[in-house]
Amino acid sequence: MNLQRWLLWLVVVAVAVAGSGALDGYAVHTLDVALIFAILAVGLSLTQGVAGQINLAQVAVFGISGYTTAVLTTTFHWDFWATLPVSVLLALAAGLLLGLPALRMQSHYLGIVTLGLAIAFSSFAANAPLLGGAAGISNIPSPGLLGISFNTDHQYFYLLLGALVLGLLYADFIRGSGLGLRLRAMRDDHVAAAAIGIHVAAMRVAAFAFGALFAGLAGNLYAGLIGYVSPDTFSIFVMFELLAMMMIGGRQSIYGSAAGAILVIVAQSLLINFQNYAQLGYGVLQVAVVVAAPMGLAGLAYRTWRLARTRHASGTTVQIAPYAGRLAQADPVAAIDGTVIGVTGLSKRFGALRALDDVTLDIHGGVIQGIVGPNGSGKTTLFNVLTGLYRADGGTVTVLGVNVLRRRPDQLSQIGVARTFQNVRLFRSLSVLENTQVGIRRSGRLWEYAVAPWRGAARDREARRKALEILDGLGLSAVAKQLPGELPYGLQRRVEIARALAGEPRLLLLDEPAAGLNGDEVRELGDILRDVRRVGVNVVLIEHNMSLVMSLCDRVAVLNFGQLLIESEPAIVSHDPAVVEAYLGRRAAVAGAPVTVG
Ligand code: ADP
Ligand code: MG
Repeated sequence: MNLQRWLLWLVVVAVAVAGSGALDGYAVHTLDVALIFAILAVGLSLTQGVAGQINLAQVAVFGISGYTTAVLTTTFHWDFWATLPVSVLLALAAGLLLGLPALRMQSHYLGIVTLGLAIAFSSFAANAPLLGGAAGISNIPSPGLLGISFNTDHQYFYLLLGALVLGLLYADFIRGSGLGLRLRAMRDDHVAAAAIGIHVAAMRVAAFAFGALFAGLAGNLYAGLIGYVSPDTFSIFVMFELLAMMMIGGRQSIYGSAAGAILVIVAQSLLINFQNYAQLGYGVLQVAVVVAAPMGLAGLAYRTWRLARTRHASGTTVQIAPYAGRLAQADPVAAIDGTVIGVTGLSKRFGALRALDDVTLDIHGGVIQGIVGPNGSGKTTLFNVLTGLYRADGGTVTVLGVNVLRRRPDQLSQIGVARTFQNVRLFRSLSVLENTQVGIRRSGRLWEYAVAPWRGAARDREARRKALEILDGLGLSAVAKQLPGELPYGLQRRVEIARALAGEPRLLLLDEPAAGLNGDEVRELGDILRDVRRVGVNVVLIEHNMSLVMSLCDRVAVLNFGQLLIESEPAIVSHDPAVVEAYLGRRAAVAGAPVTVG
């Protein structure tokens, strides 16, 4: 964080402290509640906005923490602060449990399961004698610290403000960190995320854990502020209110979510005398926000800012550097000696369809291998098996000496397999630089971000530097800050190659990399791939552009109806009668025409 931002924070906190001093007790109490909901919303925004995991049980986790604090302080007479770690830990445990369904299902199904868990919690709380049943638990003591007892709303405000500021700083750090990049990448496209080595299951559980961390803190502070907890406070109605706060503020923005919570609670208290109309107005506002600004007020602000910036920059057209052979400047690396991909008797069926039918194929180190064949001949399916996306039905497959048949895509990425996709699958809300950075292999463990954030931050800086180097090598520096959707197709494909190379693979699989490229771009692609091979990466490409295949590949395999027709040198393959027939039909084969179609 730079000096300007620290100063901005200082001003915001100073204004909040001074402003609260001028308000009466009732107004400050409202703000206190608002700050607690802001903490809760920040957590939900990490789970749902940043990581894309629908969570309708955030309020239940909040409740678990609140009740833990209540029971420990009243029934067991614990000191208030001693209950904080226990409440947060129990909330975390609940969050991890909530994360489990996310491993099996996503989107609205996940919403329904978490909703069910939230309702189960409410009814449990309403019936459990230990939790005071429907009447709840009262007489929770307010906390004290260093001789100050936070028993007035004004004093509590400072405590909450401190907690919210710390929470915001931490959440913002996580969102921008390498871990946050992984969470956002997973939200945008979990298949592509796994293909660059992201452990999707772990990320999903982590997303719920972060939400729970904030809910745990909020629940503890809530119990201390109100002195009373009951099932109503943690009901599903409150959950929907929390969701509305986040939607209005902007679910993908940490600050937007917090602002949304404060805005809604303050507005509710100002309109307390007009309750009927207030509810109606609230509903209308919610619909208006969803229609006009799906990403909430924060999204609206961000869009305006981006628009202003691009308009400002429109005078100077961005000059895209052509590929300047920079990869070739790196020292050449010896190719793998021997077999890189060994496929024996491989079959893959979809119902009655044999997408791959007894394919046997060896691909050797150092050669650029082409794979061609008509549409639907099983080329992409082969890549999907090689990268762990599909399970084979029969045969054996080894890649880089590892049997792939029981490995997950992220595990195969870890051993050095990288790929691009037939339909470009970049992370759409990550910049070009972030798309590349997220592909950089990390040396440290991800929990470093929780226990030693500064170490994680240092590694992030290193990853960013490496990513910039790769972009520079591919002539993409000028578009590093752009979103993929703002780039022409040819550049998007090149960014996908940059992302794949970021993981320092030993094997790069490219699925129709020349599709949609113009002549110059295809030539550049050829240059890039030759240089990629030179730095020790084995290249296999599926391609329809025959002139590229003929000029680039050392060997070509032809698939037809899931079977391998031939595997040989390009010149031999293009004159093979069976290949010509597969591509151009029987008449052409009889006439002896070579395959030249693009
Ligand atoms: P290619 O990449 O050579 O054009 P694909 O490998 O994508 O061909 O597809 C081969 C065949 O398998 C096609 O008939 C396709 O419809 C089918 N196929 C591929 N993936 C699936 C899937 N997930 N479910 C059902 N059928 C599939
Ligand atoms: Mg395909």
